Amino acid sequence: MKKLFLAASIASLMLSACGTHDETDEPNKQQVAEKKEQHKVTRKDGVTYVDGHLLVNKKVSLPSDYAPGENAEARKQLDRMIQESRQDDVNLVFRSGFRSYETQQQLYRSYVSRDGEAAADKYSAKPGHSEHQSGLAFDVGSVDASDDFKTSFVKTPEGQWVKDHAHKYGFIIRYPEGKEAITGYQYEPWHLRYVGKELAQTIHNEETTLEEYFEVGQ
Ligand SMILES: [Zn+2]
Repeated sequence: MKKLFLAASIASLMLSACGTHDETDEPNKQQVAEKKEQHKVTRKDGVTYVDGHLLVNKKVSLPSDYAPGENAEARKQLDRMIQESRQDDVNLVFRSGFRSYETQQQLYRSYVSRDGEAAADKYSAKPGHSEHQSGLAFDVGSVDASDDFKTSFVKTPEGQWVKDHAHKYGFIIRYPEGKEAITGYQYEPWHLRYVGKELAQTIHNEETTLEEYFEVGQ
């Protein structure tokens, strides 16, 4: 039997060796195919993950009963970031974190009654669509709060510092400037999403969004 296997192996080796002339382009084609398939979308208990990273956006929602609370690792990194920002004389502060489905529902309703649905949708998420419900998103601000929750936050020392350093702590600016059509949200220089250092570094370098990186629509 062993001899038979050996003979078969040699035969297949010869076959592949014979084929090399014609197949020089094949590995490249295969690599391209693999690259396209590299992002794996999975769903568990109604929550969507891409390559293991939770995804929530205008189209992808979280179940109403999904309430994990604040992610401990994300909060630890946020606190470390805020603490280390002090070394650069930056007064970064925590403004908000985990928000339940019910809280988002109340918020969204109040925004709609104040500004109308179309306007509210540009800056607020419908219940089940807020990244704050994941426990992985945080809003930061400055001690004096003058530019908190405004695009002008990026012009403050705190906003600039976050833009330059957040990725080192595993955070991305989730709704960047110029990506409104992709994320569905206006620029929010204060809204940070924890994705871990590796992905945060990549997204920072490529100046991209989760939607573009994962090749998923919002
Ligand atoms: Zn936010």
